[in-house]
Amino acid sequence: MRKIAFLAGAALMISCGTTTKQPKAETANSLTETAVLAAPVTPEGVGAHLEFLSSDALEGRETGSEGIDRAATYIADHFRQAGIKPFYPQYRDTLENYQGYAANVVGYLEGTDPELKDEWVVIGAHYDHIGTVKAVDGDSIANGANDNASGTVAVMEIARKLAVVKDRRRSVLFALFTAEEKGLKGSAHLAKRLKDEGRKVYTVINFEMLGVPMTQDYLVYMTGYEMSNMARMMNEIAGEAIIGLLPKAKEYQLFRRSDNYPFYKTYGIPAHTFSTFDFTNFGHYHKAGDEYGLMDPGHMANVIERMLPLVEGVVNSKQNAVYLQETGGLE
Ligand SMILES: [Zn+2]
Repeated sequence: MRKIAFLAGAALMISCGTTTKQPKAETANSLTETAVLAAPVTPEGVGAHLEFLSSDALEGRETGSEGIDRAATYIADHFRQAGIKPFYPQYRDTLENYQGYAANVVGYLEGTDPELKDEWVVIGAHYDHIGTVKAVDGDSIANGANDNASGTVAVMEIARKLAVVKDRRRSVLFALFTAEEKGLKGSAHLAKRLKDEGRKVYTVINFEMLGVPMTQDYLVYMTGYEMSNMARMMNEIAGEAIIGLLPKAKEYQLFRRSDNYPFYKTYGIPAHTFSTFDFTNFGHYHKAGDEYGLMDPGHMANVIERMLPLVEGVVNSKQNAVYLQETGGLE
């Protein structure tokens, strides 16, 4: 999540690339692939991805660093094993709006409905973080386990599980954004690129900070809750109110603080962020203490499992079933 000024009423938001690497040959071991695809979403599986992505070895995944490039390679390897194809010739989508090297990691699954497969559902999360910060007890690495290795793992796991779903009417783009913490640069780049390519984006489902459970009586909140019918539709699919509105999210205008926003601006479509960071359940936002050991992989596996049918419902929904609605303004 881009920087939030907690003390001021107005939330100031500020929110990761390196040398170009040769793409690996597309020769994944088929035995490995089968095992990857069949594996259920488990706290252990989720925890393993999370632990790697938030390890000290990745140095806080700042845009332009060696650490974030290792994260990009890890995500691309996962996509390859899960049967998620590179959307561009390579998984890395190099930013044109950033000084120095920075790359999103983008893969896709093609839709099965001839009428709807030209519509894209973007499932996203930023995988960059802020690198190093002022040392606390000798630790200066802002590991970004919650922000946003957690959302990154959600996208990786949802991609893996959607790959084995037979009916996916729309096509699905899996985007791990870079340079979110530098000002939503990765998502702004990709939204513009897709638009310039004439792609139709149906909706955006973005994930941020899912590492610890909320203290509310619903599972996840959605930013821009009143701006579209998406939460209502998802709750209907779930048969219960698991997606809620967090007043604090509205107060801090979180709708504008993450990678859903450039898509909303560029396309004028329902584009939302889903999170379980409720301003009371985590005290290490943008600090060196945002570490793997504080994460709850059981909670995360639960969120991912329960979001899966909702994501599928959106991907398979009728034409224009998700739409913007009149509200009193942006959240
Ligand atoms: Zn952040």
